[in-house]
Order: sequence, then structure tokens, then C-alpha cells
Amino acid sequence: MNNNNNGEVRVRFAPSPTGFVHIGSLRTALFNYLFAKHSGGKNILRIEDTDQTRKVEGAVENLIRVMGKLGIEFDEGPVQGGDFGPYYQSQRLDFYKKYCDELLAKGSAYYAFETSHELDEMRKLQQLEGRQTMYDRRARDLSEDEVQENLKKGLPYVIRLKVPLNEEIRFNDLIKGTIRIETNIIDDQILLKSDGFPTYHLANVVDDHLMKITHIIRGEEWVTSVPKHIIIYNALGWEVPEMAHVPLILNSDKSKLSKRQGDVAVEDFLQKGYLKETLTNFIAFLGWNPGEGEEQEFFSMEELIKKFTLEKVQSSGAVFNVDKLNWMNNEYIKNYDPDKLTELALPYFSKAGIEISNTERIKKILSLVRVYLNKLEDIPDNISFLERKEIEPDNDNLKEILNSESSKKVFEKLSEKISLLDELNPENYKTAVSEVQKDTGLKGKELFKPIRIALTGSENGPELPLIAEILGKDKVLDLLKRWF
Ligand code: GLU
Repeated sequence: MNNNNNGEVRVRFAPSPTGFVHIGSLRTALFNYLFAKHSGGKNILRIEDTDQTRKVEGAVENLIRVMGKLGIEFDEGPVQGGDFGPYYQSQRLDFYKKYCDELLAKGSAYYAFETSHELDEMRKLQQLEGRQTMYDRRARDLSEDEVQENLKKGLPYVIRLKVPLNEEIRFNDLIKGTIRIETNIIDDQILLKSDGFPTYHLANVVDDHLMKITHIIRGEEWVTSVPKHIIIYNALGWEVPEMAHVPLILNSDKSKLSKRQGDVAVEDFLQKGYLKETLTNFIAFLGWNPGEGEEQEFFSMEELIKKFTLEKVQSSGAVFNVDKLNWMNNEYIKNYDPDKLTELALPYFSKAGIEISNTERIKKILSLVRVYLNKLEDIPDNISFLERKEIEPDNDNLKEILNSESSKKVFEKLSEKISLLDELNPENYKTAVSEVQKDTGLKGKELFKPIRIALTGSENGPELPLIAEILGKDKVLDLLKRWF
């Protein structure tokens, strides 16, 4: 453990904002947050925005908003500030320059002047010869005079890492175990680009050191960069933080989770009406579980914080199962506080063209249909009976039931009873129906099915007495009268 900060755990989420938040990024952010909270440490947000070509307007604001919505909090970052800022890499260029100069002075980095055409030729030749494509380290041999001359001529250059040859880099990943790699196959990575901006590798190492990061928790796709980073840490005489590379997230068919925004943008999941409690619970289980014998599947953020440890993060890929997400969201929706759920659901009612000023009515409707919702976006489909005018003409089966002689009797009698009431409520509706049963001698399916179809257009759905109340006396009479 990096002990230069009195043993306090410091972790960071270091996204390069691309415009939307990928499910994988959310998982990294969540694991860092849970780990920091569990350890009583600090969670830091650092924006890795040194790739000027990938800048997207509003991306950082969006990222911060999404994190906030999901309850992932930062102790330091662009919003909170902190002692180790600035927290945008694009505002830290002087640091990278300084340490790049130090690497040059120590002989651990060097100037390289190849044009992109020369590099292309090099790559092509290597491919042709069936060799690994990598920089062939040719500028290592430039003499000091040659370098000075090139600089004087104003030739564009990059600074490359001088990877020590014939060594083995070995490190212990807290999740993946010991990893070894021969330095001869490590590229002399560019550290500083010709535009003066650092690459990810240099900036990442410098910042993790300066920000006193004790644990690096990030996606497995970064593990191959670690040897280069270790070479930089060693060259600068810095302690290497603990590393934990969390497993890839996979589709059900075990392929790598899509990068396409439509399938993996957290914003879209929120928009579709997946609750934040579901998302944090579900995402936490992508690669982590509380351990053998733990039956519990539903965890609040507080419970996750209590339980989360890196030892319980698995090393094999984690499958993203949308059916499980839907099941879990449905469970959360069914058990959610009715007032809070109503508040969250209002926009979806509004979208369905339902007047939302009467929130008590919306709450009642929601109490009827919530069991059927995998996500709040399913609301319009499940409340279509409220606006229904006709049975779909192509559903002959239902129409046959509605047109049968016994159904007509039921409708006629029920209408008679209901017309005598001032207002419909579940109780007087039930009384009316049992009177119809007595009068007609019809019961069970013959009694209930036609009423349900007449009122909702469908053979199954929420409890009828509640539906009747929501539809109201006039609408119920109107719907029944069409059939006798
Ligand atoms: N900027 C990298 C990313 O976008 C950060 C990787 C790391 O955490 O070191 O994921």
C-alpha cells in the first residue's frame, strides 16, 4: 500500500468523457465509490481530457449529472475542488511537461522525429515479415548532437519512453493475481505528443502519483498498459499504487458488451425508467457478489458499501443479462414507496397523454399496474384501457365472448345496478357484481371474463374493482352498454 498519506485510501474514477456514460464506466465509478466508502477513504473524479480530437461539448457536465443521479459522490473533483487539483488533465499540462523533462534528463525517455509516413512504412514492413508491429526504437540511437540539430531545425517530435530491455516486469493485481511480462515486447510508448499534449500513459501515472492515489480500480482493458506505467513509476522513483482490474462486461452470448450507445448508455436506461436503486444494485453485481452462502440479492447503496470488498470481485467476465435487470427493476417498482414512485412516474403518464394534475388518481392507477412494469416506460402500454374506445376489430375471440347471450345478460344487469349508484368504488362495484351473480345464476369465468374484456379490452390485467373505480361510473356504463 502506498503509505505517503497516513494510510488513507484514495481512489479515482478517471473517465475520458465521450458524450454518454457507458455501463462499464458506471461499474468502474461504482466500485471505486463503494471501495472508498467502505474503507473510509476518498473518492476522486479526474477528467482525462487530453485527447483533443475526442472532445465532446457538454460531456463532462452530463457525466457529473449521471453520477449525481445514481448517488455516486466524489470528495474531490471538478465540482468539489480539492488540494490536488486541477482535476481536468487539460489544465495540468505543466506537470506532464515537468516530469517528461525529468524522464529525459534521467535517460528514461528520448526524442523521436519520425514522420507518420515513416512510421507507416515501418509498420507495413513488420507486417510483411510477420513480426509484432511496434516502434523499432530507432531514435534511441540518435546522438545528443543529432537531437539538438533536429530541434534547432524545428522538426516535429514526440517523446518516447525508453523501455529497459531484457527485464521482466512483474506485478500483483488484487483481482487477477501475479502478472509478468518481458520488457522486450513492450513498445517505447509515446509519452508526449507533437502537439505538446501527454498521452494517457504519462498523464495517468503523473496524476495518480501527484493525487496520492493508493488503489487503481478500473476495467480489465487497461491491464496491458500497466507494465508501461510501472516502468514510468520506477524511472521517477515513485511507489506503484495497488492495482485492481475488474473483469470485462459481456453480452449473454459472452461477446464483449457493445460500444453502441443505444445498448449501453446509462442515460438511456434512466430514461427508460430503470430506477437508480435497481441500476446500482444490478451494476454492483457485474463482477462482484457478497460471497458464498449469501442469499440476499437486493442491496441498498448503504448495504453495498458495507459489504463491498475487492476480494469478492471475480476475475472472469461478467454477463450483462437484460432479463435479470428487468426482473430486478420490476421488484423494485413493486416495492417502491407509492408517493415516490408516483413522482417518478408522472412524466411517463404525461407522455401517454394522461392528465397528471390529479396525483392521487395517478397513484391509484400506478398501484394497479406497477406489478406489470419492468420499467416505467412500460406505463403507456399498461394503462391503455383508460383511454380505450373499442375492442380491436381483429380480436374475434374476445368479440365472440362479448356478443354471447350470457354476456349480454351480465352487462345489462350490471349496468342496471351501477346506474343506481352515485359513484363507483371497489366495494359497491363488488356488491353490484355479486348481485348480478345472484340474479343471473352466472358465475366464475362466465361472469368475470366478459366484464373484464368489456372494461379493459383484454382477458387479464389488474383487479377489476380497482379498474372500475378508476374508470368511473359513466365510463363503465358507456363501455358496458355497447354490448347489449
Ligand atoms: N481515461 C481512462 C478511461 O477513459 C482511464 C483509465 C484508468 O482508469 O486508468 O477509462
